[in-house]
Amino acid sequence: MGKITGFLEFDRKVEEYAPVEDRIKNYKEFTIPLDSKEMKDQGARCMDCGIPFCHSGCPLGNLIPDFNDAVYRGKWEKAATILHSTNNFPEFTGRLCPAPCEEACVLGINEDPVTIENIEKNIVETAFEKGWITANPPETRTGKTVAVIGSGPSGLAAAQQLNRAGHLVTVFERDQKVGGLLRYGIPDFKMEKNVIDRRVKVLEEEGIIFKTGVHIGVDIKADALKNDFDALVLCGGATVRRNLPIEGSDLKGVVQAMDFLAQNNRRVDGITDLGEEIKATGKDVVVIGGGDTGSDCIGTSIRHGANSVSNFEIMSKGTPERPEDQPWPFWPMRLRTSSSHKEGAERFFSISTKKFVGDKDGNLKGLITSEVEWIKQPGQRPLLKEVEGTEKEWKCDLVLLALGFTGSEMTIADQLGLKADPRTNIKATAKDYMTNVPGVFVAGDQRRGQSLIVWAISEGRQAAYHIDTYLMGTTSALPLKGEGDLPRI
Ligand SMILES: Cc1cc2nc3c(=O)[nH]c(=O)nc-3n(C[C@H](O)[C@H](O)[C@H](O)COP(=O)(O)OP(=O)(O)OC[C@H]3O[C@@H](n4cnc5c(N)ncnc54)[C@H](O)[C@@H]3O)c2cc1C
Ligand code: SF4
Repeated sequence: MGKITGFLEFDRKVEEYAPVEDRIKNYKEFTIPLDSKEMKDQGARCMDCGIPFCHSGCPLGNLIPDFNDAVYRGKWEKAATILHSTNNFPEFTGRLCPAPCEEACVLGINEDPVTIENIEKNIVETAFEKGWITANPPETRTGKTVAVIGSGPSGLAAAQQLNRAGHLVTVFERDQKVGGLLRYGIPDFKMEKNVIDRRVKVLEEEGIIFKTGVHIGVDIKADALKNDFDALVLCGGATVRRNLPIEGSDLKGVVQAMDFLAQNNRRVDGITDLGEEIKATGKDVVVIGGGDTGSDCIGTSIRHGANSVSNFEIMSKGTPERPEDQPWPFWPMRLRTSSSHKEGAERFFSISTKKFVGDKDGNLKGLITSEVEWIKQPGQRPLLKEVEGTEKEWKCDLVLLALGFTGSEMTIADQLGLKADPRTNIKATAKDYMTNVPGVFVAGDQRRGQSLIVWAISEGRQAAYHIDTYLMGTTSALPLKGEGDLPRI
């Protein structure tokens, strides 16, 4: 497996970024690919460790050492087949995954881990370039029909798997285009949208029907849809945004991050009818929230030409190193710095916003914060305490609230009588992904709450396995995680 001495010979090397001053002029992806010799060397760093903890670090159970080995040997088509055997859309994860596999890589115990995510991206991009990714429609149809509600990564993965099993799949999406948060949340500079389009074209050629601009629960009642299909799978995401209900939150200039990001993605897509324009141009911007969404707001504000961008995070500043109490191979809570953070934002930690300040016309002109500290309590969650005398007023004319999502919308759940947990995640265990109503399944963020693309794909695949079993009354023809797959791209 791999080059036994590879990890001793080659240092970790990932794609570099185009210089900040160039990349912020547009919304294009800005990574500079490695050449094929460099990619081979990176594959060679995989060290035949014996027990590949990266497998369990990856929510899809990707067969990482196997595709690393194929890359090292220059067998790119084989690498693509191995990769697609567990991951329907490596072009999404290869660009956007936070790569928990790399945190679990055995080489990472005392060296820099293998560049798994970047290798994944290069495999799938090579496969598209060489024309190896083509439609693979099922040879026979079962006569069963499935409606997938929502076209994010969980819905797309469920649809492709169910179609492979021979069921006739229709994906309903209320937005104008397919992709969920990949399309209308994540900015183009992280993933250009033709990456979604080229994959959706393959799915269409395989026989999946996409109906966009259809809001299930509103345009078609969920119970009517249930009567028309043999099974439903809800992949509607966790779309209810968290608010910051403090004084001044209704001022003009206090904006939800998703309104800002979705509008910008539409603008980049050439859409001109955008409603009231939300732009950061020339403004002092404060992004509240230090996660992925906050980071995407920073990169977008900088591309708009903001005067200044500050990022507030209520949690304390971590260290770039793995904390001692979060040992390998677990996912550590460390300080992460994204490409957007490096484009000119100033980050502030342990800071809480207490009040927004407006002018007499109701426009935001500033905000007031306090520093906070997190007091450790044995056996309990740390206690948040305001530090007295640290109040500070900041000048700003745009605040972007990037505070995450609280759960899923309940319209469909109410129409079908589905049970949800207190956080409004639709209830279904990972045992079979079926809700309390037979024939109605749920996957992705709508089941597990706000999460990651890799988890959404994993959930879509797992749910498809159980839906197939439910429809056919026998063991599914589809794979479960860790069981291998049909050998096709
Ligand atoms: C700004 C932002 C950046 C992110 N960046 C990353 C990242 O870099 N890496 C990462 O791993 N994760 C990231 N995430 C998280 C990731 O995008 C989500 O976890 C993932 O997209 C969830 O997939 P999903 O299929 O469950 O739902 P979604 O992607 O949310 O898709 C749900 C779809 O269902 C549709 N829908 C909902 N209700 C209905 C209905 N009633 N009728 C018809 N259609 C409906 C919605 O319109 C939407 O298209 C990010 C999230 C955000 C918000
Ligand atoms: S999908 Fe994510 S966790 Fe899995 S191998 Fe790829 S980068 Fe790693």
